[in-house]
Amino acid sequence: MRTSPRSEGQVESGPKMKVEGGCLLNGVGFEDLRREVVDAGLCTRCGGCVASCPVNVLEFGKESIVLIGDCIKCGACLRICPGKGVDMSAHEKRLFSRSRRSRPGGKNGIYQERRHLTSVSREFMKAGYFGGRVSSVLAAALEARSIDAALVTDWSDNGSLSTGKGIIARTKEEVIQAASSKYVFSSVLTLLPLVQKDPDIKKIAVVGLPCQVQAVRNMQADPALEHLTSKIEYLISLNCGAPNMSEDGWRATVSRLMDVPANNVRSFRYRKVSSTRIGLEVRTIDGNIITKEMLISSFLRNVNMGPKWPRCMFCPDYSGELSDISFGAPVIRTDRGMELVRNAEDRGYLKRSSFKKSRSQDITDLFVGYRKRRHYSRNVERRRRKKLPVPLYN
Ligand SMILES: Cc1cc2nc3c(=O)[nH]c(=O)nc-3n(C[C@H](O)[C@H](O)[C@H](O)COP(=O)(O)OP(=O)(O)OC[C@H]3O[C@@H](n4cnc5c(N)ncnc54)[C@H](O)[C@@H]3O)c2cc1C
Ligand code: SF4
Ligand code: SF4
Ligand code: SF4
Repeated sequence: MRTSPRSEGQVESGPKMKVEGGCLLNGVGFEDLRREVVDAGLCTRCGGCVASCPVNVLEFGKESIVLIGDCIKCGACLRICPGKGVDMSAHEKRLFSRSRRSRPGGKNGIYQERRHLTSVSREFMKAGYFGGRVSSVLAAALEARSIDAALVTDWSDNGSLSTGKGIIARTKEEVIQAASSKYVFSSVLTLLPLVQKDPDIKKIAVVGLPCQVQAVRNMQADPALEHLTSKIEYLISLNCGAPNMSEDGWRATVSRLMDVPANNVRSFRYRKVSSTRIGLEVRTIDGNIITKEMLISSFLRNVNMGPKWPRCMFCPDYSGELSDISFGAPVIRTDRGMELVRNAEDRGYLKRSSFKKSRSQDITDLFVGYRKRRHYSRNVERRRRKKLPVPLYN
């Protein structure tokens, strides 16, 4: 039996005041979101509020969530926002029928199994960042018609270095095109209303960072937003060990790495070229293309030196603990996650990987997950002392 219900839980919807155009207006509006989350430096840039706004007055801007019209004060954006913290226990009870607080559930959340997997096809291995396993799972699900599309993230084409572009991938080729990690925020959740309107799409998988997974779970638990999430069949998380960066942070990093003035950078992309090396490409505003190869470790060291996005300093969720399946390892959490893996194995997309590789991923996950939770506790204490709002994960 499946253990990943779509909308059984309830989220508090605040004081009920009046109904307009099918929306419950409760007096909570964008100003509240701005004060409690955006201006408090707590936005995770998950894009969930943009999707949830019934009158489409929110936009995923280059650096912030922007109000572009009249807010009707329905409160949806603040209700689903993971920026202010997440009631993990309530979601865990809904998804797993228990919470870690009632029974120990593993260091990085509750799960059924850690099953170490590799892609069978070289095409996926080459396109992916850690072996193309996410893309393999998606391609196998498309082939089996258990999904009609997947929400994935490609490089931005709007000049932003700190955000990726959400894509509705309907074919294996589109999945491969969007493969590989982009260490940036992604506008992928803003596509949910488009998916809902598309009659050709009945079921989707969403790939996101842990904060995006939290936003989707908040939406699924909100009866007023059922229309937005009813097609989501699978929720896949990427581990997120390192904080993301602001636009200025990325520009400074790219400038340092590629020796190009920050204000001349139009786009920046990278892709693994071997197990230890990464290929970087900058397109400049004055029309040049500059490429470089370097060690992945040295690239990541440079990225980690950049200024951190404030909200990422208060994030204890390394492995998308509310997802159906998380990559890294992968960690299979729900029956839906198990379905995805079995289908990919049965169709010859994935096979079990070696013991040596498995142990090193396990150790990395334990260490990075622990480090993230420790930073969270320390940073929350510091922020409390300054009497600033803190995101709470209970
Ligand atoms: C910001 C960030 C930090 C990460 N930190 C860690 C870490 O500390 N430890 C660890 O083990 N793994 C981490 N990962 C995950 C890791 O890099 C791989 O994405 C994961 O192991 C899957 O690799 P793969 O080759 O199987 O996936 P692929 O087949 O390459 O597929 C990756 C999928 O993720 C989507 N995607 C890429 N970037 C983003 C994004 N920014 N937001 C949403 N979706 C995206 C792609 O569209 C694609 O569908 C991180 C990923 C990101 C984006
Ligand atoms: S955290 Fe997500 S839902 Fe909250 S304001 Fe930022 S983008 Fe919107
Ligand atoms: S979801 Fe849209 S209309 Fe509702 S409170 Fe937020 S900005 Fe206003
Ligand atoms: S560190 Fe947390 S808030 Fe920041 S991008 Fe990763 S999952 Fe989202």
